[in-house]
Amino acid sequence: MFVGLDDTDSLSGGCTTYLASLMMDKLGLFGDSEPEDDASLPKNRKFVNYPHLIRLNPNIPYKTRGNGAIAFWVPDGMVDKARELVFKFVAGQARLDEENTNPGIAFVRDYSKLMLLENLYKKAVSEHVTLREVEKIAYEIGAEIYGFNNGRGVIGALSSIGATLCDDHTFELLAYRLKKNYGLEKKIDIDSVRNMNKRMFPKVFDSIDPQTGQLLLTPKGYDPVFCGIRGESAQEVNRAWNMIKIQEEIERIQIFVSNQATDAHLREKKIKQIKPYDCVTVKGVVSKKPTTIQGGHVLFGLQDDSSSIECAAYEPTGEFRDEVKKLIVGDVIRVSGGIGKHTTTINLEKLEILQLAENTKKISPLCCDKSMSSAGRNKGYKCKKCGRRLGPEVAIIRKTKRKAKLGLYVVPPRARRHLTKPPHRPG
Ligand SMILES: [Zn+2]
Repeated sequence: MFVGLDDTDSLSGGCTTYLASLMMDKLGLFGDSEPEDDASLPKNRKFVNYPHLIRLNPNIPYKTRGNGAIAFWVPDGMVDKARELVFKFVAGQARLDEENTNPGIAFVRDYSKLMLLENLYKKAVSEHVTLREVEKIAYEIGAEIYGFNNGRGVIGALSSIGATLCDDHTFELLAYRLKKNYGLEKKIDIDSVRNMNKRMFPKVFDSIDPQTGQLLLTPKGYDPVFCGIRGESAQEVNRAWNMIKIQEEIERIQIFVSNQATDAHLREKKIKQIKPYDCVTVKGVVSKKPTTIQGGHVLFGLQDDSSSIECAAYEPTGEFRDEVKKLIVGDVIRVSGGIGKHTTTINLEKLEILQLAENTKKISPLCCDKSMSSAGRNKGYKCKKCGRRLGPEVAIIRKTKRKAKLGLYVVPPRARRHLTKPPHRPG
């Protein structure tokens, strides 16, 4: 049976991954054990021995924090025990008293229509999916779904089961704190993290922000998670974990396989096809030069053969904005990012500069050994000394060197979405 869980966390603590880890433990399904030989298991499900940490569309406004759901597989003999545990844990541990906690549970026993779930996942990771759509698919494939409070958690719970992770995937080791330490300062030897990063990057990534030196593996907030170590394999995140020195007692660790850092959310679209909350990649031409507005946000216009749209690199994207500011009208680029409630702006995660426009400057011609002065906008030139007048066509066009360079630019790790693929990953 596949189990999907979503939104058992709330902003004041609690965490779906932690519940999943406790359940794996109770069921004796440890991350590194080989999956049991279950002939009914679909062939494209190779990571059933790890719980799946599945990030869904980050633009959906009613998510909690990272919009992460959990899916895991239990072998035949444990189905009843698993079902009982899931209800017990969600009822006992989830923050059902919180208005913004809307847990969802999904169970799938019939694997013959998993393809429908794969399609559901592909939509839920990139676009807006309604509760109605999810209920319809659950009915078609005979999945059991249970929603609490407003019921929206079933969207993530069922969709997450559809992620096969058989294409690109990454791993994350999560370490959980003792309850008495929740909310207290995290004691970690920063030098040990720096050393680990030096030895393990890029096999282990997103540990430290290269520009600010900020530790990224220890999230802030009242949360059971002490730290998360992201990398390319379970062995490597485990090795990295053993290299860092932590000065508090850790309750448990759990390794997840995940769609994080894979760009699973991005879909290539024409500007006209963009809908609210989409995650998109658009190829086009810069149609309005970048301007910096109050707050340090940088905006520019992008056009393709279907329509035009505004692109925004917001202040938290830091040095990424410096690359955006170098664009000029006519540059051919490919951008990736998220759409909000209104389809007027792409919130940029990535910029790929494909072709640079020529940067030209009009220079006044000479007369009487001096540059002629402008006779007004589009009115040509006049010489102050001899009074000669010439039309605008005599201007000298000079090419100036471009500061922008072809290539891929991604927002820095501290401002990156969980799903955004870092530039070093081939995938
Ligand atoms: Zn003159």
